[in-house]
Amino acid sequence: MIYLDYQATTPVAPEVEKAMAPWVADKFANPHSPSRWGHEAEAAIEVARRHVERAIDLDGGSVAFTGSATEAINWALKGSVERAPLKRSRIITVATEHAAVLDTCEWLAGCGIDLTVLPVKRDGLLDLELLDRELDESVLLVAVMLVNNEIGVLQPIAEIANMAHGVGALMFCDAVQGLGRLTIPQGPDLVAVSAHKIHGPKGIGALWMREGAEPAPFIHGGGQERGLRSGTLSPQLCVGFGAAAKLASERCDLDYDHVQRLWAAATKALGPDWVINGSTAQRYHGNLNIRRDGVDAARVLADLRNIAFSLGSACASGSGRPSHVLRALELDHREARSSIRLGFGRYTTQDELVDACSQIAAAAREQERLLA
Ligand code: PLP
Repeated sequence: MIYLDYQATTPVAPEVEKAMAPWVADKFANPHSPSRWGHEAEAAIEVARRHVERAIDLDGGSVAFTGSATEAINWALKGSVERAPLKRSRIITVATEHAAVLDTCEWLAGCGIDLTVLPVKRDGLLDLELLDRELDESVLLVAVMLVNNEIGVLQPIAEIANMAHGVGALMFCDAVQGLGRLTIPQGPDLVAVSAHKIHGPKGIGALWMREGAEPAPFIHGGGQERGLRSGTLSPQLCVGFGAAAKLASERCDLDYDHVQRLWAAATKALGPDWVINGSTAQRYHGNLNIRRDGVDAARVLADLRNIAFSLGSACASGSGRPSHVLRALELDHREARSSIRLGFGRYTTQDELVDACSQIAAAAREQERLLA
């Protein structure tokens, strides 16, 4: 199989698997118990935490581990609302955010929060003048992602954080698709990340919180994670996340250059008949979301069962929901149906990517021939 679905999840790095192994069976102590073995597990978790913090590389805050980025997002949004002063009752977000943000915001709107979902321009970028017009002293929080999971477009996070702070609002950033791939800009107060998007294990995420901007606890119980997020931490998952974060920090430039070369090879192999969805300038190049007039992308996917790639958002796939991101770019139904997403990165070879792109282009041409 040629794996081209890096936005859905990434292969576990061999270094991560090795680091986790002792913590799966042998070192099973509860990291919160006072025994020597408990302390050993706790120390390993703290080392892992430092690695994740270093990979996020933002000033003046710290990380709490969560069960996923989805949990970190729910916690950041709901916990910030709980802590907000009465006069701040409004959240601003963007139509192309991940469902974890949009659905949580909708839920909060059902509880009485005033919600504004801003549209994007046809290139997927937020219009900062529009944001500026919406910002006032009633805004509690602005939620904007760094790298879009469907189309790879990069939002100007530092500017957005600056604007939010200008009216005294918090800025939350979903950096799940950016961590380890790009520098996370300084500015956000809360940042959600996930291990399995950086060659770590599934089932663990983290919330970075600026000191003083910690949301109210979301999960109550034993008081772990400074009383902010209860529940016994999993040493194996934390150690795996830490190893993946350390590797991502060490390899960031190397992985970036590799992805740039892969992008150039992929676009060349596909040929000129494909249109790139979203900005070509402001984007992460490990995400190639493309469409070709008249092509039924679902049929291409069914024809090429040896290649793993995606039609729309991997998180929404299988739900039958049309991609809200492609709709926000004002693509019509036909254009959305002819769109595919190729995601590649550290372990993708140029040969396999070019092979896959040639097969995809050939399958599209075959559809055109049959229709002609
Ligand atoms: N945010 C973005 C941008 C994502 O791509 C994803 C997963 O696809 C998530 C949040 C949710 O992450 P997790 O799988 O850790 O819950």
